[in-house]
Amino acid sequence: MNKPIRIKANNKISYDIEKYIKPEMVYIPLENKSGVTYKHLVKEGEYVYKGQVVAINEDINFPIHSSVSGYAKFGSNKIIGTGKKIKCVVIENDYKEKYQKSRMIKKDISSYTKEEFVNALRENGITGLGGSDFPTFLKYQADNIKYLVVNAVECEPYVSCDKVVVHNYAEEILEAVDHIIEIMKIKKAVIVLKENNTDGIKEINKYIGTYPNIKLKLVGDAYPNGWERLVVKNALGIEYDKYPTEKGVIVSNVSTVYAIYEMLKYNRPLTERVITITGPGIKKKCNVRVKIGALASEVIAHLDGYKDLQKPIFIAGGPMMGNSLPNDDVIITKDINCLLVIEDHFEKNLPCINCGKCTEVCPVNIMPVFIMKNRDNLDNLKNLHPDKCIECGLCSFTCPSKIEVREYVRIAKAKVNNK
Ligand code: SF4
Ligand code: SF4
Repeated sequence: MNKPIRIKANNKISYDIEKYIKPEMVYIPLENKSGVTYKHLVKEGEYVYKGQVVAINEDINFPIHSSVSGYAKFGSNKIIGTGKKIKCVVIENDYKEKYQKSRMIKKDISSYTKEEFVNALRENGITGLGGSDFPTFLKYQADNIKYLVVNAVECEPYVSCDKVVVHNYAEEILEAVDHIIEIMKIKKAVIVLKENNTDGIKEINKYIGTYPNIKLKLVGDAYPNGWERLVVKNALGIEYDKYPTEKGVIVSNVSTVYAIYEMLKYNRPLTERVITITGPGIKKKCNVRVKIGALASEVIAHLDGYKDLQKPIFIAGGPMMGNSLPNDDVIITKDINCLLVIEDHFEKNLPCINCGKCTEVCPVNIMPVFIMKNRDNLDNLKNLHPDKCIECGLCSFTCPSKIEVREYVRIAKAKVNNK
């Protein structure tokens, strides 16, 4: 495995969390970033409660809830974080925040069995908030789990929502971890933070002493130290083949753990999250709690809007793993942790000079340049293993010719996986 690299960024952040909780409409896309489709469960004109299930992935019975109360509409297509336009259920907000009565009933946390907990994760639509959008209940239903690793590394430059969540909710996060390990009968939990996140470390250390089975592990400020494989190796010294559950390990992002806290404590489905809004094109750089389904354009307008840039690029996610989008009319879905607006000042698509830098930095030891050059030859591609790519973006970042190498590898990966 190549060594993680240090990427400089201005890490000065405010720990305040702004709020944008009054969108006029929320949009629930009927397909997610991995192409998984959802069936809508509400009719045109129907009254929808906050927290009501409005769409479902029928294969695994996994719901999406409305983040507002109001009336359902159809016929709108909006883009999601991949840039793809998707048909949506739209809820017109009546600003009454009306919950269904069943949502007001809270279960005593100490009485949860593992099965009830896993079912609650499914029913409340909890997904990985680090960007995966993976349904959390699928991990927690595994047998023989011995360790929980909480990933609070957040190694991409610019992105700071996890840092802010740790700083503001350290006590709640530790309480949630304690409940999870008790319910799941897990023997040890490790919270992994970057060693330069001194404020977060201070907050966790204020409370961690009360929990003998929860430990703190610090890692260097390098990319991609937040990659699940490295987090597990650094936290526990364990390596695995495909999934950490093979070795009795569950990894959850720290914002996901906070969502689990809200679920256990308040019987709240996942309908809001904290995201980072930042970059040289943003007037007020901050972290903001938003309703899932709000539009990025409205959130940014609410926060004072844009600075003038000559060639702005709008990115959903961080600069390394995010996707550039055609415009800001994008729905904030659960997997979007950052909206970044930067100036496009690079001259792109200079010829490849065969310097090999992309191969030197690749953390999964594949050869991005050869994959790019063999992109039309499926037989050669299979031997070059683009399917191992974790889409970290380091190859594009280091390329002196500013070639979007990752995009070529991503396309090759899709070809090989769909062969
Ligand atoms: S994006 Fe993929 S090919 Fe490029 S460096 Fe990361 S893992 Fe390697
Ligand atoms: S880093 Fe860029 S220029 Fe160098 S080998 Fe890779 S693709 Fe070619």
